[in-house]
Amino acid sequence: MGVRKELHLTGNLGDGMQIEVDFGKCAGHGVCALEAPEIFDIDDESGLAVLRTERPEGQEAAVNAAVRGCPERAITIA
Ligand code: SF4
Repeated sequence: MGVRKELHLTGNLGDGMQIEVDFGKCAGHGVCALEAPEIFDIDDESGLAVLRTERPEGQEAAVNAAVRGCPERAITIA
């Protein structure tokens, strides 16, 4: 069973908000998926964060909470 280890996963989730997860840092804690379940999920196979592609309105606060809550500082937004 291989573990996918992509360096980065970037998603443009609308309103110009760009979210990037650095898989070099991500350890699969899942804090992001708890803070912003509409945006983040944990991939069953790799155990790392994945971005949902569809973005409901009004998720900025949840995304910011995920950025602050990530223990590995793996999430950046621009
Ligand atoms: S909280 Fe950070 S380290 Fe944990 S799964 Fe999410 S992005 Fe990865």
